[in-house]
Amino acid sequence: MEMRKQRTGSASHVLVLPLPIQGHINPMLQFSKRLASKGLKVTLLTPTSTGNSMPQGNVFSINIEHIFDGYKEGERAATADEYIERFMGAVPLSLTELIEKYSATQTPVKFIIYDSILPWVLDLAKSLGIEGGPFFTQTCAVTALYYHKLQGGALKTAMEEKSLVSLPSLPQLELNDLPSLVHGPGSYPGVYGLIFSQFSNIDEASWLLWNTFNELEDEIVDWMASKWPVKPIGPTIPSMFLDKRLEDDKEYGISLFNPNSETCMKWLDSKEPGSVVYVSFGSLAALTDDQMAELAWGLKRSNAHFLWVVRESEKQKVPANFAEETAEMGLIVTWSPQLEVLAHKSVGCFMTHCGWNSTLEALSLGVPMVAMPQWTDQPTNAKFVADVWQVGVRIKVGENGMVTREEIERCITEVMMDGERRDEIRTNSEKWKKLAIMAMDEGGSSDKNIEEFVAKLESKQQ
Ligand code: UDP
Repeated sequence: MEMRKQRTGSASHVLVLPLPIQGHINPMLQFSKRLASKGLKVTLLTPTSTGNSMPQGNVFSINIEHIFDGYKEGERAATADEYIERFMGAVPLSLTELIEKYSATQTPVKFIIYDSILPWVLDLAKSLGIEGGPFFTQTCAVTALYYHKLQGGALKTAMEEKSLVSLPSLPQLELNDLPSLVHGPGSYPGVYGLIFSQFSNIDEASWLLWNTFNELEDEIVDWMASKWPVKPIGPTIPSMFLDKRLEDDKEYGISLFNPNSETCMKWLDSKEPGSVVYVSFGSLAALTDDQMAELAWGLKRSNAHFLWVVRESEKQKVPANFAEETAEMGLIVTWSPQLEVLAHKSVGCFMTHCGWNSTLEALSLGVPMVAMPQWTDQPTNAKFVADVWQVGVRIKVGENGMVTREEIERCITEVMMDGERRDEIRTNSEKWKKLAIMAMDEGGSSDKNIEEFVAKLESKQQ
C-alpha cells in the first residue's frame, strides 16, 4: 500500500470548487484526496447552504472550507434555477475574498479546479493571476455531443431529419441516445444554460480534467485531445474500493443525504451471493407516480431480492401495499452507502438511472447494470453501457413514455438469471473492472495524468 507523499517545503495549493450536488461533490472530493496523496495542499470549497451536512476543516487529508453562496447555513433554495441565480450572484465575490485571504499566507493559491459548468471561475482566476482548469463530471462522449450541438452541422441535420447520428469517434446514435438537453431546455432553462456554458472559454484552460479513463473512451478522448488539453483522471472512486494503494479512512466521502448504512449492510449480509438487484435513481431524478408503480410491481415480478433507494421526496409514490406485500423480498431505504452496496457480494445487478457517477461506480466495481435513463447525460451513458461496453441491458420505453412492469422483469431476468447473455455481461463487467483498477493504479493511464498535473504545478514558480 502506498503511503501519502511527504514533503519538506510548503506544498502547492489547489482550490477545488464543485457545484454542491451529490454527483459533483463526490468525484471532485475523491479527486482532491488523490491530489493530496501526491503531496499537494488541497482546499475543497463547499457552500454555506449545505450547512452541517458538509464537514469543515482538515478532513480526509484535505482542507474543507465553506464559501458563501447567497444562502445562510442550511437554508435551501426552492428550485434549481433559483439556486443557480443566487449562487452566481454571491460566489464570485466570496471566491475572490478567499483567494485574497490565502495570498497573504505561506500557501497562496496556485491553481483552481472548478466544476466545468462554472467556466466564469477561470476568468476570475486569471484576473487574479492564477491558472485554472475545469473538472468534467460527465463523459467525453457526452461533452462531444454538447459541442456538436453548439456547432450545428451533422448533429443538427440528423435531428432535423430524424435520422441516425454519425459523428467522428462516436458510435452511431439514435435520437433517444442523445443527452436530453440536446433536444432543448424544456423546463430547465437554468440547467441548460450551465451545460452549454462549458465551452465559453474552454480554449483558455490549461488542463481539462475528466472523470473517465482513456481505455473506456479511447477514440473520443483522442478526438477531444486533438482540440484541447484533455486529461482523463478517473474513475475517482475511493482507493479502498479500487486500487487499495492509499490509506483511505473508514469515512471516505461526504453525503448530503443520510444513508441507512447499517440497515442496508445487515440486510445484504443475510442474502445469497449475486441474488440482489440494487435499485437507485440517484440524488435528483423524480419518476411519475405511474412509473413508480410499474417499477415496484416489476421488481416484485422479477422474483429477485431488491434493495431499493426511494428518496424521502419520492416515498409517497410507492404503492400503498407494496412494502408489506414484498417484505420477504425487498428492503426500501431513503439513501444507501452506494459504494459499499455495489461492493457487496450479494449484489448481482444494479438497476440505475445511469447518472455518470453511478454508472462509473458500477462499471469499476464489476456490477452488471439494468439501465433506465431519465434525463441529461443518462440516455447516452445507457447506450454505452448496453452497446459499447456491454456491461448491462437498457430498458425499452413504450410509446407513451412509460416502462412497463413486464419490461422491468424481462431486463432484470436477463442480467440476473442463468443464461448466455448473463454470462457475456458478467465477463465484460469483470474486464472493465480490471481496466478501471489499472487506470488508477501506479503507472496506469489516469495515474500518469494525475502525476503529470502535479509535476507541472510543482515546477511552476509562485
Ligand atoms: N449515491 C449514494 N447513495 C444512494 C444513491 C446515490 O451514495 O442511495 C451516490 C452515488 O454513489 C453517486 C451519487 O450519489 O456517487 C449520484 O451521482 P450520479 O451521477 O450517479 O447521479 P445524480 O444524483 O447526479 O443524478
